[in-house]
Amino acid sequence: MTSPSTQLSTARSAELFDRARTVTPGGVNSPVRAFNAVGGTPRFIRSAQGAWLTDVDGNAYVDLICSWGPMLLGHAHPEVQAAVLEAVTRGTSYGTPTVPEVELAEELVARTSVEKVRFVSSGTEATMSAIRLARGFTGRELIIKFSGCYHGHVDALLASAGSGLATLAVPGTPGVPESSAGLTIVLPYNDRAAVTAAFAEFGDRIACLITEAAPGNMGVVPPAPGFNAFLAETCKQNGALFISDEVMTGFRASKLGQWGLDGAVEGWKPDLVTFGKVMGGGFPAAAFGGRADVMSQLSPEGPVYQAGTLSGNPIATTAGLATLRLATDDVYSHITTAGETIKAAAAEALTKAGVPHVIQASGTMFSVFFKDTAVTNFSEASEQDLPAYTAFFHAMLDRGVYLPPSAYEAWFLSSAHDDRAIQHVLDALPAAAEAAAV
Ligand code: PLP
Repeated sequence: MTSPSTQLSTARSAELFDRARTVTPGGVNSPVRAFNAVGGTPRFIRSAQGAWLTDVDGNAYVDLICSWGPMLLGHAHPEVQAAVLEAVTRGTSYGTPTVPEVELAEELVARTSVEKVRFVSSGTEATMSAIRLARGFTGRELIIKFSGCYHGHVDALLASAGSGLATLAVPGTPGVPESSAGLTIVLPYNDRAAVTAAFAEFGDRIACLITEAAPGNMGVVPPAPGFNAFLAETCKQNGALFISDEVMTGFRASKLGQWGLDGAVEGWKPDLVTFGKVMGGGFPAAAFGGRADVMSQLSPEGPVYQAGTLSGNPIATTAGLATLRLATDDVYSHITTAGETIKAAAAEALTKAGVPHVIQASGTMFSVFFKDTAVTNFSEASEQDLPAYTAFFHAMLDRGVYLPPSAYEAWFLSSAHDDRAIQHVLDALPAAAEAAAV
């Protein structure tokens, strides 16, 4: 792809990207940061404050990525920062139990469906460990996931659908053994019949079904009404565990995560839940938790092994605890209102410019699809006009708005997105919509 022209000076980012590519594959430490989907130079960020990012060339952007979800309160929140700075003065890692671990675990138990929780350092570790636990608990090997749901780079979850519905999957990337992907069944999202067929065929071999509580990694695709309840019930009837991946939605889609929008209202609970992002307050912290009888199978209480040198790290758990304690109803209502304003303005600008689009949300999480019909699964998400998104993305970036560099991502807001930041986004939208129309 040719490099899109930009009105901003990005010389220092370009220079750093060249240096980075010499020593790091693709110049980045997580692929989507590289702008491969949209072309151009990723901006190297020097600092962030509230809703704003500043790059090494001195350009300022309203941040609609929020570190891919974690920064619910915005960047460098003074109270989170103070808690972290105070904790750092007492040392950064002891390899022993600590106070903030207990307090953060209590906060998670109080605020979600889980009865016990174990901390890890990334969402990937959380889903990987939850699956091992489900296999250990049930004595079964097969797992079900949905196409378009991302659960981190766990071998068994980087699997693509086999040749038909309810067939075993194939590796989704080189390096994943067939023996690992072959224990996974990949189904279309929101498809009850496919789930029923898979359980009919493999029921007594299925250890667990894992799903994003509301998918945000193919753009935001809300579960059809009752879909998560149906999954929980189907798993129960078949002796499999239902794992709800709330790494992205947890404490983000609502104060209680996606579960606060369905399970808590409808009266059901997942067997296991994975968390990450917001609960780490911008630090590497994640967790998995759930039913006490299942969690008790984990070492050292039970036989299923799981461990981590930095798990429950005192700085990360301090940041997470400070963040969750500050994540009050006011925070969620602010993010809801800000989201409504931006969604309405995006819809108006894209409609005026004649750009097909559909905006979807689950709680406070939303994304804009560059197509004109609703998206219920990954194959529909893939029908987007990607060149239109590329033009839109670069026009927004040029005007100081940092959107995710991929059409398949949620747009994230924080409680620090104040009137000035929101107005900056609104001002950029009409020209970006026109750019997308060309
Ligand atoms: N699960 C979901 C739903 C995610 O969105 C992600 C990351 O984006 C993960 C798991 C993996 O988390 P991490 O990147 O911390 O390994």
